[in-house]
Amino acid sequence: MKNILITGGLGFIGSNTCIYLLEKNFKIFIIDSFLNSSEDILKKIKYLNLQLNNTNKNNLIFFEGDIRDKDTLRNVFKYALKVDAPIDIVIHLAGLKSVSESERNKMLYWDINYKGSKNLIEIMEENNCFSLIFSSSATIYGVNNTILCEDSIIKPINNYGKTKLAVEKLLEEKYISNPKLWNIINLRYFNPIGGHSSGLLGEDSYKNPNNLFPVLCMVANNDRKYLEIYGQDWETPDRTPIRDYIHIEDIAKGHLCAINYLSQRLSGFISINLGTGKGTSVLELIKIFEKVNNKKIDFIFSQRRNGDVAKYVTS
Ligand code: NAD
Ligand code: UDP
Repeated sequence: MKNILITGGLGFIGSNTCIYLLEKNFKIFIIDSFLNSSEDILKKIKYLNLQLNNTNKNNLIFFEGDIRDKDTLRNVFKYALKVDAPIDIVIHLAGLKSVSESERNKMLYWDINYKGSKNLIEIMEENNCFSLIFSSSATIYGVNNTILCEDSIIKPINNYGKTKLAVEKLLEEKYISNPKLWNIINLRYFNPIGGHSSGLLGEDSYKNPNNLFPVLCMVANNDRKYLEIYGQDWETPDRTPIRDYIHIEDIAKGHLCAINYLSQRLSGFISINLGTGKGTSVLELIKIFEKVNNKKIDFIFSQRRNGDVAKYVTS
């Protein structure tokens, strides 16, 4: 069974992917700086891991650290070797993800998303680990009202998307420089939502959440008075933006498919959209949320958010 390093493994996608892969008997190493997570998430993953039927309970090893620090990354690879579980595949999730914050704090996004990824790739190379699944985003497509496929025009309009595209390009260059060595999948996630079936692992953003779904949950829990809908003048049927929302457990399964795909070939470079092919507007999502949870969601319309686009839906 393969040994997997998950950077940012305590985040929303990381924690759900981690428990899914533990269920499938992988050995998991996590590095996370707690920038947008907490010890509490680690405790929950450990608790869920204990409920699983697998016999090896030493299958989860956590390192607190920042991917911008090469020595920390080196130590993770070194430790894995020491315990006779050299890392086979890295799932690289550590990073920042808010479109609006990326416009306000541009350099921080380049520092963490780009420099952190570059460090990781260099340390992987040092340790003869060449298999990588990278967390890219639909945001890289920019303004495009068509259904998106992997070879649609790529032109990010916000700083977050630009940092993700720069990492994709870096990875492609790495692959081109030695096509027999690197084995890379860019997963371009659309809009992951939901939580683990236990109810324990969801999108617990520790700073002010910016994504629609956690904000909806806050309003439902009376932690916010209302939802602000960013703009009512979009070029869509109900004038609110359309996204392709995909359940987090399907995202977790997508990582297992990516691992299997990497394992079946010696090298390669491919980008894959991870969505459902179904678009839902903000107003439609509110209606579905209200119906499922039997809870009224108050909202107001406000200005468009910087860097937003009308529609992202995959083919
Ligand atoms: P998240 O914020 O919940 O998780 C990211 C994790 O990375 C957090 O636990 C955080 O503490 C950690 N982290 C951040 N900077 C770090 C650093 N320098 N060193 C070590 N750890 C660090 O985000 P998420 O929703 O789980 O997203 C994971 C990845 O997927 C991100 O890179 C994001 O850009 C990408 N992505 C997310 C979405 C989405 O809608 N959730 C969509 C497309 C792409
Ligand atoms: N959105 C909104 N209010 C919020 C958060 C998000 O109206 O408080 C809208 C946002 O404009 C976008 C959609 O919801 O059209 C999804 O936003 P999210 O940040 O979740 O994902 P992304 O912008 O990355 O697709």
